[in-house]
Amino acid sequence: MTGLVAVTRNVLVATHEFCTSTTTVVTGGDGDCLVVDPGVTPAELDQLAADLAARRLHVAAGFATHPHWDHVLWSRSLGAGVPRFATAACVVAAADGRGRDLALAKVDAPGTDGELFAQLTPLLSGGPGIVPWEGPRVGVVAHGAHAPGHAALLADGVLVAGDMCSDLEVPLLDLDAADPLGDYHYALDGFDALVPDVRFVVPGHGHVGDNAELRRRLAADRRYLTDLAAGRGDDDPRLTTDWLVRDHRAQRAALGRPA
Ligand SMILES: [Zn+2]
Repeated sequence: MTGLVAVTRNVLVATHEFCTSTTTVVTGGDGDCLVVDPGVTPAELDQLAADLAARRLHVAAGFATHPHWDHVLWSRSLGAGVPRFATAACVVAAADGRGRDLALAKVDAPGTDGELFAQLTPLLSGGPGIVPWEGPRVGVVAHGAHAPGHAALLADGVLVAGDMCSDLEVPLLDLDAADPLGDYHYALDGFDALVPDVRFVVPGHGHVGDNAELRRRLAADRRYLTDLAAGRGDDDPRLTTDWLVRDHRAQRAALGRPA
């Protein structure tokens, strides 16, 4: 794990070994902070808590961008009673899949705290579209791409994208959804609208990019979706690992309509 690196004045990012996962921290002026998708192993969560304490930051709230196991982890060192927000649809999906997802977590992150795992507080549906905490405004962009109830955050000019906008992973679609490609395009449309306000993008897995890099990734993701719909996409340069190639083939088989 790399320690927390400042991306902007109010946003810090740590990067973890497992799938190049990222943890994002949004800081407020009074020493409070919001911790987004902390990962991944218990040792890394404890190190994160120690790094925050060394910076005199107090964890006031958490946020889970989506219900996959590596985004709903938590540890007592971060504060057992801290409210951890997510969209209402994310909370429902996380509860439905809790047993299966906790089993997955225990394989790749042995010692995961099962009690705190996926203990999430739903945002009000139809609410103001912000994280309800006392710190700087953090906008919530909810959509259904990649997983049910997925949300990206916009804080201090940083788009915290969850499992999208990655330089390392092709778009991974929610194949259980009624319209996986439509859901993905809808989310990318939402990100396109935010581009003028974004200075940096933080993917859930991958590297921080600037505004030009966000534009490049959005274009690459659109290209991949178009190829996928036509039964192609095998040449995407991000398909470098066995599991990604496997997931890509499953997506192509489920969604591809060769012309
Ligand atoms: Zn995910």
